[in-house]
Amino acid sequence: MTNFEQLEILLQEPKNILISSHANPDGDAVGSSLALAHYLFTLGHRVNVIMPTEMPDFLDFMPGIEKIWIYEKQTDLCNQIVENTDLIFALDYNNFNRTEIMETVLANSKAYKVMIDHHMAPSDFANAMLWRTSASSTCELIYDFLSLMNALDAAPIETFETMYVGILTDTGGLQYATSPALFRLVADISERGVNINYISDQVSNSYSYKRFRLMGYSISDRLELLEDINTGIIVLDVEDHRHFNIQRGDLEGIVNLILRIRDIRCAVLITERKDRVKLSFRSKGNFSVQEICSKYFSGGGHLNASGGQSRDNLPGTVDRLKELLYTEYKAALIS
Ligand code: 5GP
Ligand code: MN
Repeated sequence: MTNFEQLEILLQEPKNILISSHANPDGDAVGSSLALAHYLFTLGHRVNVIMPTEMPDFLDFMPGIEKIWIYEKQTDLCNQIVENTDLIFALDYNNFNRTEIMETVLANSKAYKVMIDHHMAPSDFANAMLWRTSASSTCELIYDFLSLMNALDAAPIETFETMYVGILTDTGGLQYATSPALFRLVADISERGVNINYISDQVSNSYSYKRFRLMGYSISDRLELLEDINTGIIVLDVEDHRHFNIQRGDLEGIVNLILRIRDIRCAVLITERKDRVKLSFRSKGNFSVQEICSKYFSGGGHLNASGGQSRDNLPGTVDRLKELLYTEYKAALIS
């Protein structure tokens, strides 16, 4: 970690601390934020957690989630918190543009900034930085941070419980992005008393009936397989959003379903929103969807999981993507 000693000294006196994460927060965004908040609180700091936009319902069981502020709903209060903060933790993102409506207020803040993140291509706003793309999740990096702070024994159980949520959601339930160190981490938090089965159950088996039906519809009616380039694309338009009343979190996991088909190397979910078209990519092996997203769709993420947006309309975006895959990436997709 860069500038760890400086940060450690800052944390020796009670501070006003703001923990922030990216817009449309996922399990890792919320998990890492709560895990760190529970720990910093025990050190005597004043800790506020702000998410730019609302969180998916399935995370409601997490201890402390009711105390999180939502910037888009409580803007004035959140602006006051940012104004009075000494330290800002930026978790699970590495560019303020990922916080969307909070970008300007965070970028303009004079507070000391700490980035803890595992996405590719970080920007350089941070005073201290714990950044490793080989980490499964930002939650895994929170564990590393506690280890650096020599605080694994001092941290409360809620830190480890909330940490495990982000580990599960960012690894598809310990299927990918794993490492021996991650399994040792899981063994360790299990020994510390985390109820592994309970958290897995809460994270995996919490679909609403509506979301479950949307999943079936996406597969049966909205999936196009480009078998000659080992690619599958699911496209959902505004009418689908209306019909299924798609809310935050309802689309989580849909793109991953495509990877269940044998030989698929690249999976894409394209969704039409009110103001833009959003793309969500997954891949297997060394096929880099991060490259496609950063080069062509104003986005980024990880080698095997990335996202971005398009300014074309929905059919235009689908056509552009297909053309791109056939002209630029066919060889890589069939090799
Ligand atoms: P998801 O497809 O689940 O929304 O996102 C997959 C990964 O890509 C996540 O790690 C997420 O942070 C990243 N990602 C998604 N959308 C964007 C985007 O618009 N810009 C960037 N830079 N990363 C994104
Ligand atoms: Mn993450």
